[in-house]
Formats: sequence, C-alpha cells, structure tokens
Amino acid sequence: MRQKIVAGNWKMNTTADEGQKLTSEIVNMVQDEISADVQVILAPPFTHLQSVGKLIGSSKKIALAAQNVNENESGAYTGEVSAGMLQSVGVEWVIIGHSERREYFKESGEQLAKKINAALKGGLRPIFCCGEPLEVREKEEHEGHVKQQLQDSLFHLSKEQISKVVIAYEPVWAIGTGKTASAGQAQEMHKSIRRQIAEKWGEEVAGQLRILYGGSMKPDNAKELMDQPDVDGGLIGGASLKSRDFLQIIKSA
Ligand code: PEP
Repeated sequence: MRQKIVAGNWKMNTTADEGQKLTSEIVNMVQDEISADVQVILAPPFTHLQSVGKLIGSSKKIALAAQNVNENESGAYTGEVSAGMLQSVGVEWVIIGHSERREYFKESGEQLAKKINAALKGGLRPIFCCGEPLEVREKEEHEGHVKQQLQDSLFHLSKEQISKVVIAYEPVWAIGTGKTASAGQAQEMHKSIRRQIAEKWGEEVAGQLRILYGGSMKPDNAKELMDQPDVDGGLIGGASLKSRDFLQIIKSA
C-alpha cells in the first residue's frame, strides 16, 4: 500500500503572519482530526520556510517543501536559493517543474533535470510536476507530451534516485481554472506514467512510486480522484490556502 501524500502549494500568497496563522490552523486540525497514515506537505514561499517549519515542529505527519530550487550549489546567482540552503532550514521536499515555472520562467526539461540532480544531491526529495496544456489534450497528444517531460528530466536517474522522487500530474488546463480532470482522465494518465516508470526502472520501482494529481482539486472532488488506483494523493494550490478545505482534502486521502 502506497502512503498517500497531500501537498499544499501556496505559490506567491500570504504574508508571514498569514502564513503562520494558516500553518497553526493546519497543524492543530491535522493533530486533532487526522488519524490515518497520510503525509501532509506544506510548500510556503521561501520567506516563510523557517517560521512555518518551527510551527510544524516535530510533527511526523507534516513536512516542509520549497516551491523551487536553483540547479547550482552556490555562487553568483542573485536572487536564487540552493538545495543546501533549503536543507539547512529543515526543508525535506521541493517542487520542481511546476507549469508556472515552465511557462513564466521558461524552465526547460534540461534545466529541470539539473534541478532534480541538485535537489537529490542536496538531500531533498523532488515533487516533479508534469502535464499537458489544453491544445495538446485537444489533439489527444497528452500521453506523448507527458512521456517526453519524464524522459527529458527524469530518465537519466538511477533506480535509487527515482525512488526518492514523487511525480505530480498536473494538466495545465486544470491549474487554477476551476476545471478538474475527471477521475477517469486522471487515472488514465497516472496509469500511463506508472507504465513508463515500469518500462524504464521495473515493476517494483513503479509499484512504489507515488503519483499525485494536481489541478483544481477541492473538497468536493478530492475523494473521487484519490480513490483511483493510481492516484496517490494531491498537489493542491488554491484550496491549500483555506485550512478547512485543505483538511477536507486530507481527510479524503
Ligand atoms: C498547483 O498549482 O499545483 C495547483 C494544482 O493549483 P490549483 O489547485 O489552484 O489548481
């Protein structure tokens, strides 16, 4: 049985105070209301990592993620943050390849492969995002598109390295749009991703890999999505900013 993961990506939202309030609410609710074996991950902005990390404390159920990492270890890269820096403030996970980074910051598959390497070398576990834009889905080329994304950024990894990675399938047309992939569409793609992992690294690795769904997951659709056999949790944007909604989604897992 794969442990489910529910990760909240706050993106560029919340002030430090708002972030602390949100974290405290989530920590208390998870402590009081969640008994199931679910891994909750919070990905606040860089500026909040330490304060959010303090509030999470030693909770085994909740872990800290960054939303990005630079591919270099250190040096003259103004404004950037390295894996070592993140690890030094208690970060365990990092989101890599989010469609907003691919689109607005022009991160290529090759650059993302370097970020994956830097994260793993620095002791972080990557949450690697993939997913097709609407026009690709409309041409029914979504499977090939995602396959290429996996090949470009993950296929150089060893068995041991890929075992540390979590994949998030996030159809771009569903992110922040209120449109969600149907449970059937999500399952079909997750199954295809797992098959590609199996072809490359074998059935055992594929059977253990967690594949999250992301794209307008909300309390009212989370259960149906996460009940699919190959959907191992969710990467949540908007709904992770409301503690009650986020908790409902965790409960669905
Ligand atoms: C995301 O940005 O990863 C995401 C899934 O956003 P939303 O839930 O708001 O669609």
